[in-house]
Amino acid sequence: MGNVATFIHGLPKAELHVHVEGTLEPKLMFDLAAKNGVPLPYARPEDVQKAYSFRCLREFLDLYYQGTGVLVEESDFFALSQAYAKRAHAQNVRHVEVSFDPQAHTARGVPLAAVIGGLHSALVEANRQYGMSWKLIMCFLRHLDAADAMATLDHALEHRDLISAVGLDSSEVGNPPSKFRQVFKRAKREGYHTVAHAGEEGPAKYVREALTLLCVERIDHGNRATEDAALIAQLADSRVPLTLCPLSNLRLGVVERMADHPIREMLEKGLLVTVNSDDPAYFGGYLNENYQAVAEALNLSRDQIGQLARNSFLASFLRPTEKERLISEVDRFVSADRT
Ligand SMILES: [Zn+2]
Repeated sequence: MGNVATFIHGLPKAELHVHVEGTLEPKLMFDLAAKNGVPLPYARPEDVQKAYSFRCLREFLDLYYQGTGVLVEESDFFALSQAYAKRAHAQNVRHVEVSFDPQAHTARGVPLAAVIGGLHSALVEANRQYGMSWKLIMCFLRHLDAADAMATLDHALEHRDLISAVGLDSSEVGNPPSKFRQVFKRAKREGYHTVAHAGEEGPAKYVREALTLLCVERIDHGNRATEDAALIAQLADSRVPLTLCPLSNLRLGVVERMADHPIREMLEKGLLVTVNSDDPAYFGGYLNENYQAVAEALNLSRDQIGQLARNSFLASFLRPTEKERLISEVDRFVSADRT
């Protein structure tokens, strides 16, 4: 048995909750800003990270959307997605379900085809190079109105085959899932999988709404479900997955200390919980750093860490045979570690 970091590194894993715009590292932000002539409020890449001290989701999102302004051409989206895939591969991530925010770009005049084209080509390349499988999740910005989301959905139908799921992100409080009921109904009719951020800063009620009104297949975050015992029982029973993001939760004050993170309790209650990085360039770590943070703070056993990796494939939108193949790789790795 090696140390925990080696164990986590060796585990085959999937990442299901990562915003590609949140993987924009300061160096690439500067390179693209210079190329595209976009002014940045920082003198050097080192200054960017210093600015990343957030007290809440709103403060983070203000900086985040400013950062996305450097993404202009299709090749920028390619470079962004390629850099993420390379880092994920280096951490033994076998499957990624990557979210993107089309409205954050189209509102600036970037064509949707350039966004999707760039992301798609880089993921195809990552599959060829690393054997990494992928899905794209198109997220609607919930602070905008539902009509804007519906128009984005309409427009994206031109690229229907490249997008697996739709999601809902951005500032949660005051923008409940119910606002997007018709959009999600339509997306389901078009054959998309559905996910939604809920219960990060918003109440447990938003998690219930996402489940009952939007009929989502997966909840992004869901931390505050713990405030509703009946909802926790329902999540354990239905096995609707939660994509938890420990370092994000700490940086945005969703948990005060990592030792307070609900993932262990949820795992022990039988919920299908997974570990993810959310916006790794902003929150101080990619997938393995997130596993390490909870493994250490919550003293997780190797079986529990292995279960989190198994859950990542179970909760994915992969086909059952692909899930089985990857889960058996996890099983083999965990049992080899015991001997
Ligand atoms: Zn997120």
